[in-house]
Amino acid sequence: MGSHVMDNVVAMTGSRPVFGTGERANKLKSTRFGSKLVNDYWNGVFAAKEEGKKVVWYNGTYIPPFFHSHDLVWVHGEAWSAMLAARHQEVGAQARGDQRGYDRELCSYARTHIGQMLIEMDKARAEGGAALEDPRMEAMMKLPPPDMIVNAYPYCSSGQQWDDITYRVFGKKVPMFTIQIPLLWGGRSDAGYMQGEEWHQRSRYVADQLIELTRFLEANTGRKFDFDRLSDTMGYIKKAAELRLEGMEMCKARPAPASFFDWIVSIAPMSFLPGDQNIVDYFQGVKEEITQRLLAGEGAVKNEKYRLFFDGMMNWNKVGWLADKFAQVNACVVAGRYTHMSFWQEPQLIDLKDPILGMAQNYLVCPNNHGAPIMIGEIEKHCDYYEIDGVVCHASRTCRGMTNSQFLIAGSAKKYGRQAMFFEGDVADESFYKDELLNVRLEAMVEAMEAKRRAA
Ligand code: SF4
Repeated sequence: MGSHVMDNVVAMTGSRPVFGTGERANKLKSTRFGSKLVNDYWNGVFAAKEEGKKVVWYNGTYIPPFFHSHDLVWVHGEAWSAMLAARHQEVGAQARGDQRGYDRELCSYARTHIGQMLIEMDKARAEGGAALEDPRMEAMMKLPPPDMIVNAYPYCSSGQQWDDITYRVFGKKVPMFTIQIPLLWGGRSDAGYMQGEEWHQRSRYVADQLIELTRFLEANTGRKFDFDRLSDTMGYIKKAAELRLEGMEMCKARPAPASFFDWIVSIAPMSFLPGDQNIVDYFQGVKEEITQRLLAGEGAVKNEKYRLFFDGMMNWNKVGWLADKFAQVNACVVAGRYTHMSFWQEPQLIDLKDPILGMAQNYLVCPNNHGAPIMIGEIEKHCDYYEIDGVVCHASRTCRGMTNSQFLIAGSAKKYGRQAMFFEGDVADESFYKDELLNVRLEAMVEAMEAKRRAA
């Protein structure tokens, strides 16, 4: 132990880490509206069958505008697992998955979702051995079973296997549509972020599959797809995405008025909630609060001294915990790959008169979907813009999709004079999180940032 910053490290007690200064993160209040929207959304999902709506289970990127425009109810597998983890309700589901034989090293989003599906099926079968087709089965299941499955993963192949397992568990009776979102290798001489022949070819390739998706939805509902309604839905999403990006850019200020953790809790409205006025109001509210904080000089972290970038998938069991942890060493996590480089992050590409090509392009620019040099170049641009001192890599144990390139990302950070550290955890399996390791490594990184400052 050495740093004056860390001399007052005390024991972990209660439900929050007591560490460093003991300060709590100064969270945005406007994000609370998101909890109401999320609750309303899930209540709509649970009521879907009673209301006679067809249900799509989908995994991967932000496909919901297609479902919303076609009056379908959608269940995003990752969002369901993340919600269970955030509410600390995931353990039973994961145990049921273990019992079925799924290895703990498999994606914990998938294990949680599949485990919960098995629990619901067990319950239904116990009540008189109902068959899947039995209407009582649906009434007993809180998570309504799928009428269709849509898979749309950039980069990660676990997602496709996850949906394939769901398809098998339901006896191969659920129609399934898979959208292939190919990797942007970036190897040709004209390649760059959103440029080059590969980019244009693949944009068209994905757009053509999205048109096919509308035909799949028509075939399985017997209703014609309304492209004008898709444009209306995308109008709200585009506006919300612009407000979100404007709010993010305002966090270049010192102290940053909002942190990565505020943007983490803002992911649901941008990634899977309905595309309507509510999400515009949500991001309008967030931007207004950020503007007020800027005028008042109020930061997301009291006495902000260090500015960090968070790399990796979120640890949904620990959102508030981690927000406080960094605040306690006067470090504001200003930006991250998951928040700042994903979720309609290029809204200007969407032409509201004909949105499909721009939607395809936003799916393609998922940060994991680029060859490493282009993706890391984009991370460095964010680190330069936000004047980042250090990069924190969350080595999420069961999500290779986000962790594969982290040694290269850490190496690049160091090359450009930033500190870099790793901590262990996972998206939805708390047992992989090691608090003591994070404490020790964060302490070392803070000392190094402090020493560099003193030497400057
Ligand atoms: S491994 Fe990661 S990217 Fe792949 S499905 Fe799981 S959470 Fe998503």
